[in-house]
Amino acid sequence: MVPTDDPFLQRRYLVSFEGHRLGHIFTDVLVIGCGAAGLRSAIEASQFGEVIIATKDGLTESNSYHAQGGLAAAMDSADSPSAHVEDTLRTGCGLSSEAVVREVLGGAPDHIRQMQRWGVVFDEDHGRLDLGREGGHGVNRIVHAAGDATGRILTDALLACARQDPRLKIFDNCFVLDLLTDPPAGGDGARCVGAITFHERYGLQVIRARRTILAAGGAGTLWRETTNPPVETADGMAMAFRAGAEIADAEFMQFHPTTLYVAGSTRSLISEAVRGEGGYLVDRAGRRFMADYHEMAELAPRDVVSRAILDHLAATGATNVYLDVRHLGADGFAHRFPQIDRQCREFGISPGEDLIPVHPAAHYMIGGVRADIAGRTSLPGLLACGEASCTGLHGANRLASNSLTEALVLGSRCGRTAGEALAAGDEELGPRMIDWQNPHSDRTSLDLADIRNSLRSVMWRNVGIVRRGSRLAETLDIIGFWGHYVLDKEFYDAAGWEVQNMLTSALLVSTGALRRQETRGVHYRVDFPELDPAWRRHQMLRRSEQGLVVRDEEV
Ligand SMILES: Cc1cc2nc3c(=O)[nH]c(=O)nc-3n(C[C@H](O)[C@H](O)[C@H](O)COP(=O)(O)OP(=O)(O)OC[C@H]3O[C@@H](n4cnc5c(N)ncnc54)[C@H](O)[C@@H]3O)c2cc1C
Repeated sequence: MVPTDDPFLQRRYLVSFEGHRLGHIFTDVLVIGCGAAGLRSAIEASQFGEVIIATKDGLTESNSYHAQGGLAAAMDSADSPSAHVEDTLRTGCGLSSEAVVREVLGGAPDHIRQMQRWGVVFDEDHGRLDLGREGGHGVNRIVHAAGDATGRILTDALLACARQDPRLKIFDNCFVLDLLTDPPAGGDGARCVGAITFHERYGLQVIRARRTILAAGGAGTLWRETTNPPVETADGMAMAFRAGAEIADAEFMQFHPTTLYVAGSTRSLISEAVRGEGGYLVDRAGRRFMADYHEMAELAPRDVVSRAILDHLAATGATNVYLDVRHLGADGFAHRFPQIDRQCREFGISPGEDLIPVHPAAHYMIGGVRADIAGRTSLPGLLACGEASCTGLHGANRLASNSLTEALVLGSRCGRTAGEALAAGDEELGPRMIDWQNPHSDRTSLDLADIRNSLRSVMWRNVGIVRRGSRLAETLDIIGFWGHYVLDKEFYDAAGWEVQNMLTSALLVSTGALRRQETRGVHYRVDFPELDPAWRRHQMLRRSEQGLVVRDEEV
């Protein structure tokens, strides 16, 4: 226990509210987030009761929609779920939960077939699924659709399915600020009973739910360089922490080695599948350098490739390296990767003729709200799935394309858990009004954009691909300092709430990263460069009224 007067640990809700003055909506299940995990869980839960999905922006603003490579599943007769399990456990560096890995990967082929029944046409070659290859997989097992637009096709199919369901309603532009607990302050015996939301048209509202499923996605926006769209501000991690749920392994952020690196462009992902199809990395002298760093060269695990690129940039003084796909031919590349081809061409880069400038970026949040195989968290009434959760599937490193698979398999399982709990009728939603009053702050107004950018820069510099204890400690001081005058304020729109969530989540990531004194998977400490068997444990962080509670759990 770390007793503290830290504002990160004091503020239970982002805003004050008086229940009797707010509109109340009642539902059986509230799902927060409209990516693949949220949609899949909602579709399942609606078989048991009424479901509302709340999502803070448009329906396609999610990591899921932008996914390119595909879904990993053992679909070929030459492959097997157990081979997929082996590759996943090896990549997870000793921190995966084998039971979760077996459940997800064993269930993956059935979920792929389910998506086919729901209208997804996966790419085929001569009547058989055209399976792609990505780093860390021993065989070709990535199912993809419309070339590199798998996320869009999958999300569209799930949305179509959700829209047909009369028991399922989707509220877009509905920002979830906080999970509501009873008693409101949280603590021992508290239960999640829904959420406080802000809807563009209706303002602040209370959605009371018998079960709440958190599927609010990732945290990429905490870092200056990221593949994630701007909605991924780690709101889920921050709101669950404020409500008292355990956050697991927050230090594990996976960095992707290859994003398009052109000044002024968003850091569009150049899928690993491009390297899987034979694209290779060269430096500005045109030299292929990955074989100097790993025997698998371009197909080494992502963390190895990301670090190799940074080392090579430091050695050569360059700002970026290049992907060379010219040997694939302009037509071949455009056919297999139409979206990436289009993105490159928008910046005057023709992949069949030109080298593509690339650089690593924050990509996938492995840590998150601690959830078991059925989606249950440490906070009664709250379930979690998808990237917002941490079930132990990915361990210390995610095997490529396992996350969309996870979103389907565990999203569905989580929805079923919520639904079955309704059927058991173990509690009713009382009519009790909940109020909350934050202390008044009269400090000066803030330049939120400046704080957001400064936070992202410091996270990239100090809590990025290569970490060091002194830099992590310095980051905690900086974030703590900002926290004192940002977290004592109440904001009236998403820009302020997001910065508050980003600060809180950055604190959790940095705390976990400083505490884990070893190198494992995507967490690389130059001052502790070896994997330490004594650290084969998960780190849980939880807020309590007395301070930050840290708990380690053996794998
Ligand atoms: C560019 C890119 C390519 C990728 N390619 C692949 C791939 O090929 N294969 C693969 O397996 N994985 C891939 N990934 C990772 C994968 O897409 C994600 O891990 C997965 O889609 C996460 O799904 P999700 O439903 O958990 O979260 P998301 O899809 O991120 O959805 C989160 C949802 O929560 C909403 N939300 C967030 N905060 C709030 C709030 N406060 N209130 C209300 N709503 C909120 C968001 O608006 C969004 O609707 C890729 C990721 C990126 C960024």
